[in-house]
Amino acid sequence: MPVSGLRIWRARWVLPIDAAPIRDGAVAVEGDRIAWVGKARVAPAGDRLDLGDALLLPALVNAHSHLDLTGFRGLLEGLSFVDWIRTLTAAKREVTTDDDLFDAARAGIAEGLRSGIGTFGDTADRPAAAQAMRALGVRGVAFQEVFGPDPAQAESAVADLERRVVRLLDEAGDEPSLVRIGVSPHAPYSVSDALYRATAALATARGWPLATHVAESADESALVTEAEGPFAEYLRGRGIAVAPRAASPVALLEATGVLATRPLLIHAVRCRRDDRERMRRAGAGVAHCPCSNAKLGHGVAPLREYVEDGLPVGLGSDSMASNNRMHLLEEARIAGLVQAARAGRAEAVPAAALLHLATLGGAQVLGLADEIGSLEPGKAADLAAFPLGDKVAAADLDPVAAAVYAMGDAPASWVMVAGVVRVSAGVVAGVPTDLPVRMAAQAARLAEWREARPAR
Ligand SMILES: [Zn+2]
Repeated sequence: MPVSGLRIWRARWVLPIDAAPIRDGAVAVEGDRIAWVGKARVAPAGDRLDLGDALLLPALVNAHSHLDLTGFRGLLEGLSFVDWIRTLTAAKREVTTDDDLFDAARAGIAEGLRSGIGTFGDTADRPAAAQAMRALGVRGVAFQEVFGPDPAQAESAVADLERRVVRLLDEAGDEPSLVRIGVSPHAPYSVSDALYRATAALATARGWPLATHVAESADESALVTEAEGPFAEYLRGRGIAVAPRAASPVALLEATGVLATRPLLIHAVRCRRDDRERMRRAGAGVAHCPCSNAKLGHGVAPLREYVEDGLPVGLGSDSMASNNRMHLLEEARIAGLVQAARAGRAEAVPAAALLHLATLGGAQVLGLADEIGSLEPGKAADLAAFPLGDKVAAADLDPVAAAVYAMGDAPASWVMVAGVVRVSAGVVAGVPTDLPVRMAAQAARLAEWREARPAR
């Protein structure tokens, strides 16, 4: 062993994110921290390992996932958003067990790790995803969801939420954990104003981070601003009174105290200038999910404006039921293409800004920018290497453009989280070999349930 205890990884290109790309670069790691970043030829003494013709990046940050829904990929194709939500909710209630959700979350994490993701901002209403994140050694914030469109449910729903969060925190014990626990009032069509207020008050009192889905669909806006549309009809059908609530979904979050918690706003597709100003004033962040938004027909978020406003923005895959894949370099590429098409000019959001979304931007919106998201001495040793294959020449001309536009869905060969290697030679550590078989069995039960379900 070298005296310094340093482990040094060399790659053809090191992309620190907060500094210029380094050709023939290296990153030195000591324990769970980055000790040094620079040119390989002047690297300090230590145990040298060569990642070859690869891009070495900070491990990517998926700012919004639903890991425990990974088994629902393919179940909900072609449904309207209201039917999509209702079918998903029914499948969770009637088919999947906690073991299924734990398997699905592990499968989702493994898929994320294979695409270079080391940190997840996950939302779920059951503990399985947080437990799976801990089991596989990834980093993140596990936001615990709360639902309740009927104001009469607010008090009991938030008390139950607090118990669930405390239980998850207790499970971790006194050991330092890579997984923080937060809260997530689900969305305007599934959360009453009273429940928003109570959840915001809980988050503030406890110092827990808060994430919420907002301004995603036209149906949601119609419910909030006019008390009309399919969500309004659905709630009235359940005997819940519906009236116009605010000038916009983001204005609703402001009125109910949610914006004051500096929340992570998931989607934020339908945000006008006044909404963006509310978000900027509040110090809110955005989880931008361009593939999910496009696939569900929800439109295009004003990402260019967010970036120009200096709002913190990360990239999210959303659930595999609405994306159907998890690869943030591909997500960054699509975000960039769509914004350029929307703006009618090349590079409406520059490639470096797109790569920032997948790394430091995601870290910022999850409150983890002091720890991760860029390669800097003192930060956590969260790293991912992507072999360049036939893109070596492209990377030599422009390594950032290669990362965003040329790599496609290239797998990461090697991923480290907190100084521990989690992916080596493309293989994820700690995943049971029978997981694919278990996921196929879960799919078979879901298919049988879908077959037996009365048509709507
Ligand atoms: Zn979501």
